[in-house]
Amino acid sequence: MSFETMPERRRTLAWRLTCWYAAVFAASSLVALSVAYVLIVAQVRERTDADLREDVEELSDLLRTEGLDGFGEQLRLDLQGDETEDEFVRLSSRDGSLVLASDLDEFPGLPAPADSLLRSDSGAEAVLATLELAGRDHGVRVASAAISADYVVDVGETMEDDDEFVAGLLGRLAPPAAGAVLLAMPIGWFMARRALRPVEAVTRTATEIAAGAIDRRVALRDPSDELGRLAQAFNAMLDRIELLVGGMREMSDNLAHDLRSPLTRIRAAAEMSLSGDRSDGARASLAATATEECDRVLEMIDTNLAITEMESGAVRLDRTEIDLAQLVGEACELFQTVAEDRKLELLAELPNRCPLFADRQRLQRAIANLIDNALKYTPATGRVTVALSDDGHQVRITVADTGVGISPAETTRIFERFYRADGSRSEPGNGLGLSLSLANARAHGGGISVESVPGRGSRFTLVLPHHPA
Ligand code: ADP
Repeated sequence: MSFETMPERRRTLAWRLTCWYAAVFAASSLVALSVAYVLIVAQVRERTDADLREDVEELSDLLRTEGLDGFGEQLRLDLQGDETEDEFVRLSSRDGSLVLASDLDEFPGLPAPADSLLRSDSGAEAVLATLELAGRDHGVRVASAAISADYVVDVGETMEDDDEFVAGLLGRLAPPAAGAVLLAMPIGWFMARRALRPVEAVTRTATEIAAGAIDRRVALRDPSDELGRLAQAFNAMLDRIELLVGGMREMSDNLAHDLRSPLTRIRAAAEMSLSGDRSDGARASLAATATEECDRVLEMIDTNLAITEMESGAVRLDRTEIDLAQLVGEACELFQTVAEDRKLELLAELPNRCPLFADRQRLQRAIANLIDNALKYTPATGRVTVALSDDGHQVRITVADTGVGISPAETTRIFERFYRADGSRSEPGNGLGLSLSLANARAHGGGISVESVPGRGSRFTLVLPHHPA
């Protein structure tokens, strides 16, 4: 880890996670060890106090059974030799004067029994205190009690053993505590790297995609955890983007292809009108052809832009209260002459009224396109039926024909921009009509579906909800 990269490293999530892991790990280890230490020390102190209380009780029994002389004799026997350095017993009368005691030279400055003790009832619970005596390195734990109507006793014990045990304990606990603090950093780093490995995989994949490998995906480990779900969502997003990019590429290819023919015709007309041996009438006709072709190109571009705008949601619908029955009826009337020219029967099965809050112009265009297609792709003597129904939640407009039909493979593609079924190329069109109708329907919160049997006919259904989500 060089010094130049340190500040940058500090900004990484792995570094921050490592510090957090390390801090939490070290703190919890220290807390656990401290709690263990405090509990053990308390246990040691309690054991000493219990021993002293027991001594007081034994001395009280001894005085009662053996009298003062027996008490003194027993005391002399019990506290012989070295033990007098660590323990003492002192019997005092109720006026505070010393009656008898073990060797008190090792406990200089031992205070006289407290007044409260001298006045206390015999048999009362022993009182415990820790005394710091001048000249002794360790404290002295003392249990004092009135053991008869005439006497009080003090039993004391140096805390040297306890203090040494506690110091030894501290010495034993220090290495694991230091080890926990030292290990916290590498363990934290290991945990952080492990936790962030899937995030690194996502980053690596994104980098590869940015470098051009658009088909790369993140390898899924465990899709049930958060990072697994992130990888799954990331892959799903990439699939969608790939699909959209593919669609856009195909669309721009189609647009280029569809612009080529009219532009070639415009160029040919312009070239021919330039040759000197043309009459004025022929030149006017070529200019008209060029104008017509230009209009077609412009219409194609405008429709394309309208679809894009609609799909992006940038368009605000001009909704008003309209009568859909009237609107569909008018469209059918408008197409009646086309139907007659093609020797087709155009039927309208409409209710008297069908109110809907919608954008009149955009719906007009969508419905007109469905009827136009039905008439275009139905051979002479066929029939086209336009029907309208309303179940209170949504309005359904169906346009059914007895025409050429659409193969199952193509029913999913005809709503794509510029897509035209193979058998349809003899009819005029640019493959944008259904895309625009669908975009209009979706902008109203609805949609268009198709059922078709090749050679038997098709039925397009435009659904419009009364209350779009
Ligand atoms: P266009 O009619 O200009 O080709 P559309 O987007 O309106 O473009 O339709 C796309 C394609 O869907 C058509 O080329 C045709 O192949 C198919 N299609 C649409 N309506 C019908 C229909 N009623 N019957 C059979 N095929 C249809």
